Amino acid sequence: MISKGGSEALLQTLVDTARTVPPDYDILLPLFRLLAKVGLRDKKFGQKALELEALDVTLILARKNLCDSQNLLHCLWALRVFASSVTTGAMLGINGAMELILDIVTPYTQKRTRTIRVATEVLAALLKSKSNSRRAVNRGYVTSLLRLHQDWHSHDTANTYVLIRRGFLLCLRHIVTLRSGREAFLAAQGMEILFSTAQNCLDDKSVEPVISEAIQILRQCYPKSPLPLVTASSAYTFPVPGSITPEPPRDLTEEDFEDDGDEEGDRGSNSEDVKEEDDDLETDVDKLSSKPGLDRPEEELMQYEAMCCELSCSFEELESQFEDNGNSGEIQCANHHIPAAASSKQHCLSKDQSSRGQGREETAQTSLLHMVKMGRSAVHLASRKRPVVNPYQNVQSNDLGRDSSGNEIPNTQASLKEDARDLDAIFCSRMTAFFSNSTRPRETAAVIDKLLQTHPKRIPFHDPYLYMAKARRTTSVVDFKTMAIPDLWGHCPPPSSQCMLERKRGVQRIKILEDVRRLIQPIDVVNKVVFSLDEPRPLQDTASNCLRFFSQFESGNLRKAIQVREFEYDLLVNTDVNGTQHQQWFYFEVSGMRAAIPYRFNIINCEKPNSQFNYGMQPTLYSVKEALLGRPTWIRTGHEICYYRNHYRQSAAVTGGASGKCYYNLTFAVTFPHSEDVCYLAYHYPYTYTALMTHLDILEKSVDPKQVYFRQEVLCQTLGGNLCPLVTITAMPESNSTDHLEQFRHRPYQVITARVHPGESNASWVMKGALEFLVSSDPVARLLRENFIFKIIPMLNPDGVINGNHRCSLRGEDLNRQWLSPQAHLQPTIYHAKGLLYYLGSIGRSPMVFCDFHGHSQKKNVFLYGCSIKETLWQAECTVGTSTLLEDVSYRTLPKILDKLAPAFTMSSCSFLVEKSRASTARVVVWREMGVSRSYTMESSYCGCNQGPYQCTKLLRERTKQKKSHPSTGLQGLQFGTRELEEMGAMFCLGLLILELKSSSCSHQLLTRAATLLNAEEEALDHHLQR
Ligand SMILES: [Zn+2]
Repeated sequence: MISKGGSEALLQTLVDTARTVPPDYDILLPLFRLLAKVGLRDKKFGQKALELEALDVTLILARKNLCDSQNLLHCLWALRVFASSVTTGAMLGINGAMELILDIVTPYTQKRTRTIRVATEVLAALLKSKSNSRRAVNRGYVTSLLRLHQDWHSHDTANTYVLIRRGFLLCLRHIVTLRSGREAFLAAQGMEILFSTAQNCLDDKSVEPVISEAIQILRQCYPKSPLPLVTASSAYTFPVPGSITPEPPRDLTEEDFEDDGDEEGDRGSNSEDVKEEDDDLETDVDKLSSKPGLDRPEEELMQYEAMCCELSCSFEELESQFEDNGNSGEIQCANHHIPAAASSKQHCLSKDQSSRGQGREETAQTSLLHMVKMGRSAVHLASRKRPVVNPYQNVQSNDLGRDSSGNEIPNTQASLKEDARDLDAIFCSRMTAFFSNSTRPRETAAVIDKLLQTHPKRIPFHDPYLYMAKARRTTSVVDFKTMAIPDLWGHCPPPSSQCMLERKRGVQRIKILEDVRRLIQPIDVVNKVVFSLDEPRPLQDTASNCLRFFSQFESGNLRKAIQVREFEYDLLVNTDVNGTQHQQWFYFEVSGMRAAIPYRFNIINCEKPNSQFNYGMQPTLYSVKEALLGRPTWIRTGHEICYYRNHYRQSAAVTGGASGKCYYNLTFAVTFPHSEDVCYLAYHYPYTYTALMTHLDILEKSVDPKQVYFRQEVLCQTLGGNLCPLVTITAMPESNSTDHLEQFRHRPYQVITARVHPGESNASWVMKGALEFLVSSDPVARLLRENFIFKIIPMLNPDGVINGNHRCSLRGEDLNRQWLSPQAHLQPTIYHAKGLLYYLGSIGRSPMVFCDFHGHSQKKNVFLYGCSIKETLWQAECTVGTSTLLEDVSYRTLPKILDKLAPAFTMSSCSFLVEKSRASTARVVVWREMGVSRSYTMESSYCGCNQGPYQCTKLLRERTKQKKSHPSTGLQGLQFGTRELEEMGAMFCLGLLILELKSSSCSHQLLTRAATLLNAEEEALDHHLQR
């Protein structure tokens, strides 16, 4: 009907009928009803009405019928559809439509309420036009609307007319999009009025639409202000070679401006998924399929020969080694030159004298294969054995004196007090003892010694003494003098896994109202800076009641802490060194707390528009007192967690062009387990560079050198003067006979890298799991070593990790956007990682699989990104010439295998599209330039799993059931602990073996030896299908 000119016909009839004297309402009323219906479907309806002069006649009819509510209502219906077009609405405004409406809406009444409701809706539609809003401000409608709102709100106690009350707020909401509207709103005490409206009926579901609008208006009108920082640049700067071209500020997308206020409205479990941008897909077939040449002179590649000793080593000492058990098993290879970045301070990873090698770990663990056969992981079994403890409940009940299995620990209270004093001593001297320029070395060393002796908690693959020694060699930009206790002392995974936090309904509103209260009821606002990297003088007097903060240690990055109210703190994290952005990672120390009090923390300069903190994720907490009680454990903690846009904006001058950049609040409450404790809070389980270096040494000492070829060397030196380690793992040759040496040297390579993004500590835990598994005595690990040579670069961005960056190198560059043309003096780790891959390619030994481990902040589970020309072209609907394109589909095999094997992994989040914006990432460059068809990025969620075995079972849910006074958001699943992440690393390695077993080149010998593996995989598949 619309396409055949029906709208025009109806409108013309309306004009003609209205102009007859007297108008025939028997025709007009059905006509209006019809117009209202048709108008909803006709996008050009307003325009048509304007052209046919239907506006004027309708307005005239409405004015004539002010006292006839039936006729008036019909006119309003028509006006409502006319006003849905902004231009038409503006015209109606000029012709006095708003005044007409204000004559219709009245203070609270129980009469004509239907007409009043529609009138408020017409007014709200009219106010979408900026000119109407401006007129409304000038005529004082803001005050009138607020009065009307108050009047109806106070009289309508039975909540019969919620939609009318909402209508007034809808009108205000359009007006306050104008600056003059906000000014008028503030002047008319709008904040106070709507605050009390929202505050008084927060829990009343029946007025939900009113609260929702009120909160939106409050957020919109909260005066914007710049961040409380002297500069948007990092508190740390470091002179680096080459001029720094800071990354262009993030392009603001539509998502950034999206109304993020109406929180729980439609948040399904999938709504957080990031949409893939189709226009970012690479559709140039040449770019996709042509292989670019070397980015450096060919002769340069020879330097990497020295990093592949396994290819030339003759193992002459092998015979004598078998005879001599005391031999360290060190394989003699020519020392190679370390490619230096800038200066060169240290040249080799020498063994530390102070280290107390832990010897070989007892590998009593269940074999990986067994776990797969059972269709469950170790974690799952653990969580079935013990009731899952809600860490927050644990904290609240303050159950001192129990170890993780619930046994009493004798006399802990007394010794704890003493230890606390010891700790004070340590923190006062800030552990300067462990660094070369220390002033009080013996004293503090003795204290820590005593602590370590009193609490001989043996943490697998960790050694505090070795850590201290390694920390001395770690170079930071501002020369950190302190080690954080969790990194020094070590972390043990908690006995059971933690479920995702169920979000309490309305929590974001409560937080926003608390924020608004700072403005309108500032009586309890302290606003005292208690910590700042930008202030040279110590700000914290230990006597005061407030919390003490500290972050000048490896990976720490708190920049400023402001006490807002007695138990509430605003925190700002540092930007990446030499940069102005990427605030997401956080890690800091907090002390001086009282137990059993919920402290609210707000990290107010977050940058991403959304976060898994809105979908069940909690930050991590480490308590030193808990560690002394035998629980040296990072746990997920915090409640009332939400993440939302706040009122801070950055001015264009500061950010270099991106005007009005928004910031986001991460807010959470923590109830600390002990008073006067020293605690640490972090975005995710920290994993420092020093931890890696410690760990690698322990790993090396743990292996049987007769069986495992484990070689740790230096890929290069970083800009900050740290050494980037390269690890080689394979099995020793059976003997130095020619046959065995041949087999040894011809094992295919597998290359794994991680932690190019320093804030993605989850990637390091996955890497830790992979490394420990690869050197273990598990039969699968043995097969892997016997059949492959693993080249592993566990940390591609040591400087970023050390200095608490989230994303970049010291040059403020995202190193995973530098693979196309890295330069030795600017991006040394990328340059040499690429060089090593080039070298392997040049001798015909490109890796079977290349994988770069990452962390993902927006999605759940673990998944792979790979590269496929065909899938990219199909997705972009660019099918020209694709029929002749040949592509090996083997890139899909590994993710399919992992989907079956690894509990945390899901195929459904994998993607094989090649995006233009990713052209310079490791994954795309290794695929395109090195021709590695199985080149991947493996992403692990910061949050956890919502599929597979780690999706909370009904059983687990019941165990963790809290008082459900509020309906939950329906999120179920485990949050990742370090155990699940490490398991993923091991499963990845198992996946590599199964990939080989499935390949046509797999040797008969391996197939027979691994027959059980294939069976296990079948069983895993069965299990998978059943679930
Ligand atoms: Zn990443």
